[in-house]
Amino acid sequence: MSLELPALPFAKDALAPHMSAETLDFHHGKHHNAYVTKGNELLADAGLSADNLEDLVKEAKKTGGALFNNVGQHYNHSFFWSCLSPNGGGAPTGDIAARIDADFGSYDDFKKEFVAGGVGQFGSGWVWLAADGGKLKIVKTANADTPLTDGMTPILVCDVWEHAYYLDFQNRRPDFLGSFLDNLVNWDFANENLAKA
Ligand code: MN
Repeated sequence: MSLELPALPFAKDALAPHMSAETLDFHHGKHHNAYVTKGNELLADAGLSADNLEDLVKEAKKTGGALFNNVGQHYNHSFFWSCLSPNGGGAPTGDIAARIDADFGSYDDFKKEFVAGGVGQFGSGWVWLAADGGKLKIVKTANADTPLTDGMTPILVCDVWEHAYYLDFQNRRPDFLGSFLDNLVNWDFANENLAKA
């Protein structure tokens, strides 16, 4: 299978001022697109077979190197766009609300742990809410890594590579993470993923 750049599930200016059209131009149109192009070049020679993107990521992880970096980044970014909504942000709704209370104590406790995870990821990477054996946890991953290849089910993710926030927040990664939760996070998508966990 080959990789395909997905269309953003919202208008490019719909997340402003929390995430600007300029950020999305670069992040989706340049960075994500480059992972798709490079990933397809490497896949053409790799001879991997998979029925879906999740299985392809797991296969690419066994190979590692540039192949996994590009395929993993395609998966992570495709997942990330679905975690954003112009109508998102704030306290969770649906089943995920009760699960967050059960596994973190309260939404405020979850928020502190999620932001601390993203701030604590040294260098480039991602902070995730993932289901691990029936329990929700915060997972941070470096570079292109994903909890998917450790047997967990991703529920939500925020990109903490500098390219995700530098145009809008400069060096203020904690403010970007807080704004992601307060203004953008798509709890409907989190509930869809929780239902599969
Ligand atoms: Mn990114």
